[in-house]
Amino acid sequence: MSLLTVGTVAFDDIETPSGRAEKVVGGACTYISLAASYFVKPVRVVSVVGDDFPHETLEYLRHRGVDLEGLQIKEGEKSFFWAGRYHKSLNTRDTLDTQLNVLATFDPVLPESYKQSEYLMLGNLTPMVQMQVLEQLTHRPKLVALDTMNFWMDIAMDDLRKVLEKIDVLTINDEEARQLSGEHSLVHAARAIHKMGPKYLIIKKGEHGALLFHRGQIFYAPALPLAEVTDPTGAGDTFAGGFMGYIAKTGDISFENMKRAVVFGSAMASFCVEKFGIERLKGLTPAMIENRVEEFAELVKF
Ligand code: AMP
Repeated sequence: MSLLTVGTVAFDDIETPSGRAEKVVGGACTYISLAASYFVKPVRVVSVVGDDFPHETLEYLRHRGVDLEGLQIKEGEKSFFWAGRYHKSLNTRDTLDTQLNVLATFDPVLPESYKQSEYLMLGNLTPMVQMQVLEQLTHRPKLVALDTMNFWMDIAMDDLRKVLEKIDVLTINDEEARQLSGEHSLVHAARAIHKMGPKYLIIKKGEHGALLFHRGQIFYAPALPLAEVTDPTGAGDTFAGGFMGYIAKTGDISFENMKRAVVFGSAMASFCVEKFGIERLKGLTPAMIENRVEEFAELVKF
């Protein structure tokens, strides 16, 4: 089974109540591919960085079985940069800066070997680039998921609406679901978003877990109550990587299996938030992931 993913590979400046971290490696695609690498090989990456991006990170991803043939490295240019500050509750954050840099002119080119990927995770970046990746595939994947954020709703809503018509699963947070649908109630928002294209909708609610909507059915998975959350950055992308990685590994796109995938995605996200950047996602083992999933099962068993 193969999983293709696109998204930013980036540097982040992050401020949380636990502290600050500058120029840490982040980006949607980085989190997605690393999380998914614990479930499926190969994970194929389509993205772009400048020549300022650390070789060690790329080597580490390769060592995890991530295929970087579709990663463009632009000489003399700078990688995408994002800076954010979290509020005390950690459920909300302000974007302080977004510098597109290499992303501003990114023209994704899929290597031949990527064009028949069975699963596709369109991670957060320009909706037009998400569409260009979808259009280069010679076979429609078994499942296409997409993640996006308010930034793109603000500046590229028309392009986003076009790509939404072509996907199966949309993963967004609660505020973004409200912004996209114009509905406050998440149940009404889900109905409105289904009409835009996605048959499945996952609404991420940070420390309050995630909701999966499909044809009037709703599944809820809590987030693991953690004693300490250091940095929520990338939790959504890590969730998406775990979710799609699990689906690709099992090859089962039924609603029942998606529920399990939501729990595996939540387990991966619970690791992510324990340290700044991608640090906690390095060096996990299948046993550590299984134990986390068990903790989730215990949490809701009565
Ligand atoms: P998450 O916390 O899951 O929403 O993802 C955070 C990651 O998204 C960070 O590592 C950022 O580099 C990246 N990011 C921030 N803004 C954008 C954007 N507008 N498009 C794509 N990726 C972004």
